[in-house]
Amino acid sequence: MALQSHIEKILWPEDQISARISEVGAQITDEFRAISPPPVVVGVATGAFLFLADLVRKIDLPISVDFVRAESYGSGTESNGAPTISCDLKVDVKNRHVIVVEDIVDTGHTLSCIIADLTSKGASSVSVCTFLDKPARRKVHFQLVGEGKFYRCFECPNYFVVGYGMDFNELYRNLPYVGVLKPEHY
Ligand code: 5GP
Ligand code: MG
Ligand code: MG
Repeated sequence: MALQSHIEKILWPEDQISARISEVGAQITDEFRAISPPPVVVGVATGAFLFLADLVRKIDLPISVDFVRAESYGSGTESNGAPTISCDLKVDVKNRHVIVVEDIVDTGHTLSCIIADLTSKGASSVSVCTFLDKPARRKVHFQLVGEGKFYRCFECPNYFVVGYGMDFNELYRNLPYVGVLKPEHY
């Protein structure tokens, strides 16, 4: 495949991604089964779009699904450290349990900004479900709200990864797996 020729190394292939998402979806289903009303699952656009789509189909509860957009990366591989909400929710999250779905938590700035926004909107709890977690790069310690829980599919080594929703300069989101680009493509 032409697109695959840009990839140096695959970190998580498709079958491993879908197996892990089935596990996490089952765990969320289990842990939210008795909670009323059922949670609002909020994907962070654009990076979480594929993960959100796969995850919500593994949550066996009558959830609501919505998106927010937070801008922290202009381009390239470094955060500017001051994300803002640039596209807001449609669902009212007041007194609702929210699960924020992220592609990857890196410095933690984006998540802190989104959690602050959901708190100001009156969410009764905020949980986070991230596809990848890069704890080595954390600069801000985000705080879950209420009885909020933290879920992650995989811990990510300190590489800039692309695919499965994640971009480099708005490219490679459509790769069905996660990998690292060949140096000539960065
Ligand atoms: P943070 O605000 O935690 O530094 O970064 C959050 C956002 O930066 C992620 O949701 C993602 O969009 C982007 N990001 C962080 N690390 C990576 C990476 O390794 N690859 C890609 N493609 N995006 C990343
Ligand atoms: Mg993201
Ligand atoms: Mg990006």
